[in-house]
Amino acid sequence: MKKILIVGGGISGLATAWLLRSKAEAAGEELHITLLEKDDKPGGKIRSIKAEGYTCEWGPNGFLDSKPQTLNLCRSIGIESSLHRSNDNARKRFIYSGGELHQLPDGAPAFLKSRLISLPGKLRLALEPTPFISASPADVDETLADFGRRRLGSEALDKLIAPMVSGIFAGDPETMSLISCFPRIAELEREYGGLIRAMIMLAKKKKRDIAEGKVVSSAAGPGGVLTSFRDGIQFLSDALTSSLGEIVNSSVTVNSITAQKDDTYLVTSENGGIYEADVLIMATPAYATAKILSGLDYKISGVLEQIPYASMTVVCFGYSRNQINSSLDGFGYLIPKKEGRNTLGTLWDSSMFENRAAEGKVLLRSMMGGACFPDYIKLSDDEVTTRVEEDLRMTMGIDSAPEFVRIFRHPQAIPQYTVGHGSRLDKLEKQLKENRGLILTGNSYRGIGLNDCVAAAERAADEALKFLIDSTK
Ligand SMILES: Cc1cc2nc3c(=O)[nH]c(=O)nc-3n(C[C@H](O)[C@H](O)[C@H](O)COP(=O)(O)OP(=O)(O)OC[C@H]3O[C@@H](n4cnc5c(N)ncnc54)[C@H](O)[C@@H]3O)c2cc1C
Repeated sequence: MKKILIVGGGISGLATAWLLRSKAEAAGEELHITLLEKDDKPGGKIRSIKAEGYTCEWGPNGFLDSKPQTLNLCRSIGIESSLHRSNDNARKRFIYSGGELHQLPDGAPAFLKSRLISLPGKLRLALEPTPFISASPADVDETLADFGRRRLGSEALDKLIAPMVSGIFAGDPETMSLISCFPRIAELEREYGGLIRAMIMLAKKKKRDIAEGKVVSSAAGPGGVLTSFRDGIQFLSDALTSSLGEIVNSSVTVNSITAQKDDTYLVTSENGGIYEADVLIMATPAYATAKILSGLDYKISGVLEQIPYASMTVVCFGYSRNQINSSLDGFGYLIPKKEGRNTLGTLWDSSMFENRAAEGKVLLRSMMGGACFPDYIKLSDDEVTTRVEEDLRMTMGIDSAPEFVRIFRHPQAIPQYTVGHGSRLDKLEKQLKENRGLILTGNSYRGIGLNDCVAAAERAADEALKFLIDSTK
């Protein structure tokens, strides 16, 4: 029986194992799948911590239901009925600017009324669909900042694009690549000649499709509803782990991998374990994969080492509802770097999902650090607490100390798709051809959201199965 080894038990590794097993069963192929995970609990960045009536998300707090991947996975493992969608509050998002919170406008009339962008900034934005704006420079891997300045102007870059980049990637728009981070935006610009034009044309198309009775996929829209589980997002990785049973081996740190003469791989672990594999799927972060593969293919390791990571500190504060005057009606807010605050923003977790705090309590989750503030990961607990309190006083007028504090540090939280990421992926693809049966998956390559990781897992599972079927022909 062919042996498949998956290294890394975050959502990427777990979903790959699950999808590969399901696809192999459907194709009548018998496989021996083993997953090795370093930590004592699989899940990687996914972890939901329950304490004193609060449910704190260590990493992700859910996925968007506007893409099908994670929903389909939940359906296939039989946990669809446990899905817990965020309430309408999650639709209202805010930006802190000039000493106040501004709701992100959801349409042209609200945008015109909003005081988030000044009149000159709005006039500059109004130029976006006109020929005064230069088109995308062909064959240039443009930074998000250059794209923002070119199409929308500096103010929109600072107050809209930069906070979005820090909210998703904890990234710095001056270094991040538009085409690698937001390929759909680059595509819309190319296809329609501008973003406002694209929005108008897509809205018209949607109207036409509805009038013609066509099924309009919710995937066409940008937003979607943030979706999790009553007990937190860890319910997903726990369900996958228990469904996979003996496939998952926790507390096994893979050290090195070598190729054998018969085209199989020999994998060794820190505790002396030795595993053979016909197909090896690496679902570890790029820096870990680089280290593990250094003896197998130094060229692959060299490219992987060039993918930088941003650190992040996640700070959960619990309060009694009466300690807070704000309506807390929303998703939370992001803070542009130019505001000079300590945090990247704060999510109102208990407003999005009502059971994240006990009755009469409130759970706020602030993010610190990211690519723009790399030293914040070194701050002590006391410094972190003081700085978050200071920001919450400024942004939401919270004067009292939280009754509950939890701080989670991620020294290498999120891979940064900086300029050159696309050509790094091309090099990896080329070099992987020299290593038959070696597959890379995970959030380091083509998307960091849970949906992206599951989509990549599906591609990895398909590739593995195809390789195995082709090699037995
Ligand atoms: C703070 C934060 C908030 C986020 N919020 C959201 C959100 O709301 N929505 C969303 O969609 N996404 C969010 N993301 C992104 C998303 O959580 C991640 O991209 C995703 O969970 C990564 O999954 P992964 O399996 O690719 O990697 P990881 O979760 O990093 O898993 C990799 C696994 O490999 C293991 N490993 C490493 N080295 C070895 C080794 N030598 N041997 C064996 N195993 C090893 C690790 O222990 C780990 O379990 C967030 C990320 C962070 C950090």
